Amino acid sequence: MLLVDSHSHIFAEDFDYDREVVLDRAAQAGVKYHVLPNIDSTSVPRLLETADRYSQCFPLMGLHPTSVNRNFSKELEVVGSYLSIRKFWGIGEIGIDLYWDKTFVEEQKVAFRHQVQLAKKLGLPVAIHARNSFQEIFSILDEEADSTLSGVFHSFTGTLEDYRHILDYQTFMVGIGGVVTFKNGGVDRVLPHINIEKIVLETDSPYLSPAPARGKRNESFNLTFIAQRVAGILEMPVHEVASLTSANAIKLFNLPINNEES
Ligand SMILES: [Zn+2]
Repeated sequence: MLLVDSHSHIFAEDFDYDREVVLDRAAQAGVKYHVLPNIDSTSVPRLLETADRYSQCFPLMGLHPTSVNRNFSKELEVVGSYLSIRKFWGIGEIGIDLYWDKTFVEEQKVAFRHQVQLAKKLGLPVAIHARNSFQEIFSILDEEADSTLSGVFHSFTGTLEDYRHILDYQTFMVGIGGVVTFKNGGVDRVLPHINIEKIVLETDSPYLSPAPARGKRNESFNLTFIAQRVAGILEMPVHEVASLTSANAIKLFNLPINNEES
């Protein structure tokens, strides 16, 4: 079985003492590849160190919405300069978060649009973080989305209407993560209406640990629980969910992986 963790912060400080052990444990369970979305300028050294050391890790570059403040244009300059000096597999994670703090909502919108335009210019996919902000994000994407823009709404917890709106942007997918295993998470009710061709799987580790590991540090091994839950809801064999969603992630991020080995 081959699984791609399409959204992992394995470069985070939480893994400084056992990153290799965590990656090995994941690989043994089939989780062999990891897409690593950046947070902000302070997380870049760890991100690049991890990606340079472990060839199964593919870094993205971007400014996370919760790191957008009055200094955001400086942060965006950093994003631009890293993109000019090395290979990244997408722009992320970017978006709008109105759950934690609404102080910089206008700045968040500007930073999001700027990075979407950057993605279009560079021909890279975007990893979008949407929290209490689908309307704000949709109103920007309605203007910006075209055939040159692809991406994923990571940790999708929206409604069926939100999903249908995402389908309008033809080359977008949804990332299904730990919330699918939560009672009352709501994702289990929307999931049966989502086409498997539009799904990638993710942990968002070290956050959002799925049942039965809820409350603990999340790690990529737990993607197996998410795959099993998705397979249960869609009434499909888990290996089929694994190979289809892995192929989706490989295609979306254009990863140099031979999917035959699955
Ligand atoms: Zn994330």
